[in-house]
Amino acid sequence: MNLVLVVNAGSSSLKYQLLNMEDESVIAKGNCDRIGIGGHVSHKVPATGYVYDEDCNFPTHTEAFEKLVEVLTTGENKVIDSMNEISAVGHRIVQGAEIFDKACLVTEDVIKQIDDLSELAPVHNHPHALALWACSKVLPKETPQVVVFDTAFHQTMPAKAYLFGLPYEDYLNYHVRRYGFHGTSHRFVSGALATAMGKDIKDLKIVSCHLGNGSSITAVNGGKSVDTSMGFTPLDGIIMGTRCGAVDPSAVTYVMGKHGFTPHEMSEYMNKKSGFLGLSGVSSDNRDVCAAAEAGNERAVMTSDILQYQIKKYIGSYTAAMNGVDAVIFTGGIGENSVEVREAVCEDMSFFGIELDKELNKTVRGKLCKISTPESKVEVWVVPTNEELLIARDTLALING
Ligand code: ADP
Repeated sequence: MNLVLVVNAGSSSLKYQLLNMEDESVIAKGNCDRIGIGGHVSHKVPATGYVYDEDCNFPTHTEAFEKLVEVLTTGENKVIDSMNEISAVGHRIVQGAEIFDKACLVTEDVIKQIDDLSELAPVHNHPHALALWACSKVLPKETPQVVVFDTAFHQTMPAKAYLFGLPYEDYLNYHVRRYGFHGTSHRFVSGALATAMGKDIKDLKIVSCHLGNGSSITAVNGGKSVDTSMGFTPLDGIIMGTRCGAVDPSAVTYVMGKHGFTPHEMSEYMNKKSGFLGLSGVSSDNRDVCAAAEAGNERAVMTSDILQYQIKKYIGSYTAAMNGVDAVIFTGGIGENSVEVREAVCEDMSFFGIELDKELNKTVRGKLCKISTPESKVEVWVVPTNEELLIARDTLALING
């Protein structure tokens, strides 16, 4: 078997999937969480339906990795005999900045560079570095490790798309620019769409809408990201579960003054108290907001309206940026499942040649399917994302040269 372990580490969690790359099936998956504040493992083996949950003690990522090794290799429900059976480990890394424009093999220097980028992504990169050190300590020395970056796909954006209107020195000295995120997802779904359409991705102009707790929209021209809605951090763009999306910068400094917030407090406010949650006052979860809207909650209706309107505007502006669009993709928890959001976004888009098959749209949840009418000039598709699979494919490709 050709096994790849995919790891997605956060500050207090370590999500993992073990994939058999012969048929790209998931052999085991789970999460070691509450790292540093206790410890818990939840582990699943899809083929047998085996589920395992246990409270543990994870003072650091190292103990979480040791538990991961234990659940994979011991007991009667083990899926492998030893970690030596694993061909490679692929790690998801949020911020690669301008240093990493593609996946690469992990070395001590690479881990240090990822850690040095923590200033640009404090919530993510330092925990990634901790997990990489821990993984190197726990796994066999000869197992190659690969890092795959959320930002790498967007490194093809031109300067006109990635620069802000701040003095150029801030870009040169402090690396302030649009990086974009969700790159692995946008790359996966646009590739899957080209295959489904039977076209070469080089011939396609795509607007990819990844709508989940965090959401971003990307213009993919000829297989390359040419613009994207998330920016210097994942806060920019459209409203999200708890993130505000784009706001007039003057409103930020004004609100800081009104609340007497420090920069850190303002950042927390915009990242954790805004978006669906702050606007609706109901929930950060789109399903709850939709249910409240249906029950007549006016703020929930307004929140849904804002979301749909903002997505529509991005489709319009990216169509202008690419001088056309062949297909629109909906992916992520909302994109794959919310019939209402897809219908509202595609409503009154005849000027762009977008015509949704409303009846078909109602039947599509979480599966690859074209949902536009045969007459629609622009094809509209639901494409389930699978970032872990693309990380595993990249990892394998890299170690196989
Ligand atoms: P994350 O960004 O954390 O990976 P997901 O991609 O899983 O998040 O998306 C979570 C969002 O998807 C939530 O707002 C949730 O309400 C929404 N969602 C999931 N299922 C549905 C559904 N059936 N209808 C509408 N929204 C849904």
